[in-house]
Amino acid sequence: MGNRKRVLILGGTGEAAELAAQAATISGVEVIISLAGRTRQAAMSSTLRIGGFGGVSGLRDYLQEQEIDLLIDATHPFAAQISCHAAQAADDCDIPRLMLLRPAWEMMRGDNWIEVESNEAAARVLPGLAQRIFLTIGRQELASYAHLKQLWFLMRMIEPPLPDTPVPPGKLLLERGAFSLESERSLLGEYDIGAIVSKNSGGDATYGKIIAARELGLPVVMVQRPSMPNGETVADVETAIFWLRNWLLP
Ligand code: NAP
Repeated sequence: MGNRKRVLILGGTGEAAELAAQAATISGVEVIISLAGRTRQAAMSSTLRIGGFGGVSGLRDYLQEQEIDLLIDATHPFAAQISCHAAQAADDCDIPRLMLLRPAWEMMRGDNWIEVESNEAAARVLPGLAQRIFLTIGRQELASYAHLKQLWFLMRMIEPPLPDTPVPPGKLLLERGAFSLESERSLLGEYDIGAIVSKNSGGDATYGKIIAARELGLPVVMVQRPSMPNGETVADVETAIFWLRNWLLP
């Protein structure tokens, strides 16, 4: 077996897919990428497993059964639960773990951000701020806005909300990024949007709406990130590959 390493990448982001593709080309590395299975996925070259593990104990069992040597948590900055489970399970199994976490967006000159801790807090600031809102928080927390019957929402997400999810009044837009600045600019104009709600996801793929809001002087209600477990963290794929290569050294 030598220095051959089995690497589990917890995915669901563009960076995770890119990392898996790059890692799979390194000799001596076997990559398994894990997805929660919330959205449809294109085929990937690495071994793919889909669905939850069943909490910390399920993940611990998986790490042991699959003889995983290294764990890279490349999940989304708002996917806090799986990151906490990964930290606990890797610790229990004594497996080195790295977090790949893209940097948060920073407020710039011209930005008009209202930073809030949660979607509930975002919903509280909307009445009086604007009448027509671009809601770009995905589908999982739409219910936090469902009581705002006096406002109108343009709601963008990849997959439609589950059938019994309470949804505020407005229109659903089912699309997957990346989104260009031009298309975001025209979307805001077309729907006469007065404010945006966004998570501080970071990255380039969905930053166009933030630039467009700055240009148009629109307020952005920015939901802050949840706290993540402690541990070694890198900000990009290149540095994650460097970390991986380091573990391959004899
Ligand atoms: P979460 O709240 O942190 O996790 C909920 C549960 O989903 C976990 O306990 C786990 O189930 C399962 N899970 C999550 N990620 C998984 C993975 N990569 N592989 C296997 N199981 C996983 O996560 P979430 O916010 O629902 O996000 C789900 C997935 O979508 C994540 O992989 C994330 O990277 C991606 N994503 C999330 C967002 C977002 O805004 N939250 C945005 C873009 C992409 P068990 O306890 O059964 O193991």
